Formats: sequence, C-alpha cells, structure tokens
Amino acid sequence: MSKNKKLIIANWKMNPESLAEAKKIFLGIKKVAGKLLNVQTVVCPPFIFLEEIASLYKGHRIAIGAQDVFEKNTGSFTGMISPNMLKKNGVDYVILGHSERRALGESDEYINNKVRISLKTGLKVILCVGEKERDNQGQYFIFIKNQILNSLEGITKSFLNNLSIAYEPVWAISNNSKNKAMSSDQIYEMIIFIKKVLTDKFGVKTKMPQILYGGSVNPKNTKEILKEGGVDGLLIGRAGLDIKKFSEILNIANN
Ligand code: PEP
Repeated sequence: MSKNKKLIIANWKMNPESLAEAKKIFLGIKKVAGKLLNVQTVVCPPFIFLEEIASLYKGHRIAIGAQDVFEKNTGSFTGMISPNMLKKNGVDYVILGHSERRALGESDEYINNKVRISLKTGLKVILCVGEKERDNQGQYFIFIKNQILNSLEGITKSFLNNLSIAYEPVWAISNNSKNKAMSSDQIYEMIIFIKKVLTDKFGVKTKMPQILYGGSVNPKNTKEILKEGGVDGLLIGRAGLDIKKFSEILNIANN
C-alpha cells in the first residue's frame, strides 16, 4: 500500500447482531471505498462474520481486519482464534491493544506477544495506545511512550511496513456520551511525540509506521483532524457502522 494513502479503519466492536446486517453495512461501505484512490479502507467486523465478509471482498481498496487475535498459532486453547486462522481466511489486518481489551486485563506484555506473532504470521497490525486521562505534568507522554516501547519489544525494522499505530485517548472514545474528539493541535503534538519515540527506537532513516487517530471521529471533524492533526489515518468506532457517515468520512479523507 502506498504510504500516501490515508488508512481509514472501521472497528465495529460487538455489532451488528446478524450476518444479514453485517453484509448490508459492509456492501454499503464497499460501494464507496472501492472508488477511492487515496484511501485504504479496512473494516473490522466481529470474528463470527469475518469469513463470510472476507469472501465478499474482491480486493478493491477495501480490506478486512479482526478486532483481536490470540497469542499462539497452535495448541489447545478453547475459544481462541489464531493469527494463522485469520490469515488463511481472508483477513489482512488485526487491531491489537484496543483500550476496551486493555480494560479487560490485557497487559503490554500480552499485547507484545500478539504483536510479534501477528507480524510473523504476515498480518498487518494496528497497535492501539492511549492514556485514560490527562494530568497537568504531562505524565501521559511517559505513559504513551511506555505503552509503545513495551508493546513493540523485540520488533525489528523489517516488520515496520506492516505496522500502524492508532493513538486513541480513552477519554475521547465515544462510548461515553460526554466524550468528544481531541483538538487537532493536541493530536498534532502527540503525533510528533509518537514519531520521536519511534525514531529513537528504530533510527531516523527508517520508514515510519502510519500513525492514526481514534476517538469520536465524525464527518464534521474529519477534515480538521486529518489536516491539522497531521495523522496518516483514522480508527473509527461508532461512525464505522453508519454507511452514510462512514462514506462521508471516506470521501473527505480521499480529497
Ligand atoms: C474506538 O473505540 O476505537 C473508537 C475510536 O470509537 P469512537 O469512534 O466511537 O469514539
């Protein structure tokens, strides 16, 4: 994928409830996404719909992602889905370290195991990082740095092409009706900081992963976040289930 394309990802979380609804939303998004030259769209449905949705995917500018994966490719692990299963069933991307999974108890170390095996299996990893709250001393910068470095422990430069980092401040995610997107200048500041952390780790000459923003993105704030926030793409929850809103976001990103 060309580095200049914006990476726009829909995370459907635990929605919708039926395959029929999932197909309808996916096909509505695909109609728009398939025409856009400057956007790589990724849709991440729940596991149960992945294979069927992937079979509708014809490879035209819209890819399929999973919302999580297990840390091993083989063994007896009831209820788990392996990176190989995803890879062999038409899934190209996987979201790892989403704050909603971290809230269920996932540690940086566990996420690191998943990042390693997913990259080795040939999946493209979207690694989520984000602070729960902001303090006046800027401790959240240290928190983000640690999340990135711990989650990328042992990852070498050769894998960076298949990695993107989604900065998602937990307090901006729309699961709480009071939350709203971060301001674009705050986003810009954090994107520069993340780039510095990555440059310090991998060296200045390395081609950097794409850095995305997520948290209450909607058609009204997309343009400003992409332009002023300096991000390479967006990770979208709620609006990613709404064909109209998500299509508007895709069209804005394309222009
Ligand atoms: C998310 O949960 O990753 C997210 C960004 O959600 P929303 O767009 O609904 O804030």
